[in-house]
Amino acid sequence: MVNILWREGWIKPFLTESLPSENCSICKKEFKNMDFVTSCEFCGINMMHDHCANQHIILEHDRQIKDKINDHKEKRLHSFQ
Ligand SMILES: [Zn+2]
Ligand SMILES: [Zn+2]
Repeated sequence: MVNILWREGWIKPFLTESLPSENCSICKKEFKNMDFVTSCEFCGINMMHDHCANQHIILEHDRQIKDKINDHKEKRLHSFQ
C-alpha cells in the first residue's frame, strides 16, 4: 500500500492580467494558455504550475505532508471506535 496525495480542487479559469504575476513562482516561466496552476496550502506561494507545485510540496513540505498522513490515519482509527 502507498500513500497517494489528493489535492482537492476544481478548475477555475483566470486571466493572467487579473493576477499579481504572470510568471510561475517556482520555475519563473511565463504562464501559457491552458496551463494548470495552483497555490501552496503550506506557505504563501500563490500561483505556480501544477507540476511545479507537486515538486515544491514534496521538497519543501515533506514534514507537513507526513504530519497530514499521520493525522489522517489517526482520524480513521477514531472513526472506528
Ligand atoms: Zn512553473
Ligand atoms: Zn509551499
